[in-house]
Amino acid sequence: MTLIGRTVRAWRSWLLLACLCCPLLALALERADVVLEPGTERFVLAPQLGHYHDREDVDDLAAAWRRVDADGMAPLPGGADAFGFQRGTFWFHARVVNREAHEPRWMLVQEYPLSDEVDLHVRYADGRVLHFAGGDHRPFASRSVRYRHPNFSFELPPGEPVDLLVRVRSQSSMQVPLQLYTPKAFTEVSRDAQLAIGLYYGIMLALFFYNLVLWLSLRDASYFWYLCHVTAFGLVLFTLNGLGFEYLWPGSSWMADHMVPISICLALIAMLQFSRTFLELPRRWPPGNALLLALMAFFVLFGIASIWLPLRISTPVASRAVLLGVVGIVIATVVVLRRGYAPAWLLLLAWSMFLLGTAVFTLLAFGLLPKNFATEYGVQIGSALEMLLLSIALGHRYAALRHENLRITAEANQKLERKVAQRTQEVRSTLLQLEEAHARLRDSSRRDGLTGLYNRTWFHEAFRELAQQAKQTAAPLAVLMIDLDHFKSINDRHGHLAGDDCLRWAARRIGRILRPHDALLARFGGEEFVAAMPGCDLSTAGEIAEAIRHALGDEPCVSGETRIRVTASIGVHVVYPASDGGVDDALGSADRALYAAKANGRDCVELATGLC
Ligand code: GH3
Ligand code: MG
Ligand code: MG
Repeated sequence: MTLIGRTVRAWRSWLLLACLCCPLLALALERADVVLEPGTERFVLAPQLGHYHDREDVDDLAAAWRRVDADGMAPLPGGADAFGFQRGTFWFHARVVNREAHEPRWMLVQEYPLSDEVDLHVRYADGRVLHFAGGDHRPFASRSVRYRHPNFSFELPPGEPVDLLVRVRSQSSMQVPLQLYTPKAFTEVSRDAQLAIGLYYGIMLALFFYNLVLWLSLRDASYFWYLCHVTAFGLVLFTLNGLGFEYLWPGSSWMADHMVPISICLALIAMLQFSRTFLELPRRWPPGNALLLALMAFFVLFGIASIWLPLRISTPVASRAVLLGVVGIVIATVVVLRRGYAPAWLLLLAWSMFLLGTAVFTLLAFGLLPKNFATEYGVQIGSALEMLLLSIALGHRYAALRHENLRITAEANQKLERKVAQRTQEVRSTLLQLEEAHARLRDSSRRDGLTGLYNRTWFHEAFRELAQQAKQTAAPLAVLMIDLDHFKSINDRHGHLAGDDCLRWAARRIGRILRPHDALLARFGGEEFVAAMPGCDLSTAGEIAEAIRHALGDEPCVSGETRIRVTASIGVHVVYPASDGGVDDALGSADRALYAAKANGRDCVELATGLC
């Protein structure tokens, strides 16, 4: 105790002695640090606590009591009840006088859940000493009330000074925020805290299941890593709140210790992996991707190493590395955002919430912000908002992807449709060309190469149809057999090419005469032509034959310099509907008439019925 502290206490005791005129009570108060006045429901012990740090861990309980009785305990440095990671044992002492006659039962609560061993020794005025054990290296069931903070329930007989000696050993951070509560006050405070925690985990669970359903239906990797992040981060706070020890591993002190750095590493691995997939870093910013991968590798290795590393190294390193991880993510987010990836906005906002919540909590820890619901639960509020925003960001990103997919599909469809139309057009025009080629081929197979008239084969086919039609319409069908006279001698005299000219010339002339009569004209072979004229009786056919004969014989054929006289003999036959003969009979009759014309001296027309 300091000199000033002792002087103040001495003045206070003399004052009380004078005022109360009660020597016994005055003596009690002179030695008491904490007076629980009537109406007091809770009391923060830190300002009145004496403490001693046994670095070498040599003092036993008796030595500690001797130190208390010799006034050898020092006040908390600066009134702060947090000492960071420390070796050895801490002893804390407070002398308490309960002046609330109606409240003999009180609770001492260690409002930090991660201390390994917390032992409370309660010494009464009659020399009786009670011992209570707590902390996460002791079974959870040994706590007075099943609650996440170590707590001890004992009697504080009204008016009687009671020494509370607390021994704390821990590999975790040495934080000893001790408070005295009446059972009623403790119930109320813990009820409010449980509600806040319940709300937080309710939000986490809702986000988890909502995104789980989305992941199961969408199978998008980002959702999976988001789920991992929510789970791992939930585990971090579950561990830090003491709920992990209460509900998940109440019998395992190893888990209670090591889950802090391990869960932090898991949360960061999932957080980094989520950011990589969400921001599409491998594609959008490969150096950032490499940075986040390196950070992930660090957390994987450090997480594994935490299994063996002492907690005073692993926990602070892991906690500080969180900042490193978040800064890495923020840098990557800002770069990707500047490169025009809009969904990164929400991600940036989400991490800002997380950082803000953590910063508020840290400022509170340093006493720079007042303690209220928002500051005390800064990490929870910040992380809940962060995860909510991340979930919204996922939805937003999914909508953007869907929109992009629809656009690409529509574009592809349009392209496909255009291509199909183009191909159809090409196929159509190819088919048309094919048809034309086929028609040309078919036509050329029907025609004679020299004169361009139909050939004999086609004439036979076509004539059969004409004969059929003539029969059906009961009309006559005339057949003309035209043979050029002495053509062999034309060839002999003027040459074969001149003979060809004569054949073409004769074909044109005959064609011109027959055109008005809707006749079917063909080259029957060599210098012989055949014509069929539907609806033409014998006398008309004879007249037409005469016209042909004149058209040939009246003017010479001009081949080069040579003028060649070409005459023809024509046999005419008419098929009447009543006749029974076929195509060959009709052609035979015409041919016979032609022979008759030849026999009659050539350059004449012979009708099948008789005369030239
Ligand atoms: P006829 O008055 O009795 O009909 O006497 P012709 O010489 O006309 O009859 P023939 O049957 O003896 O001779 C037909 C000739 O027609 C024989 C052949 O050289 C000629 N000829 C047949 N086809 C062609 C051809 O494509 N071009 C040429 N230049 N001559 C042909
Ligand atoms: Mg001839
Ligand atoms: Mg002939």
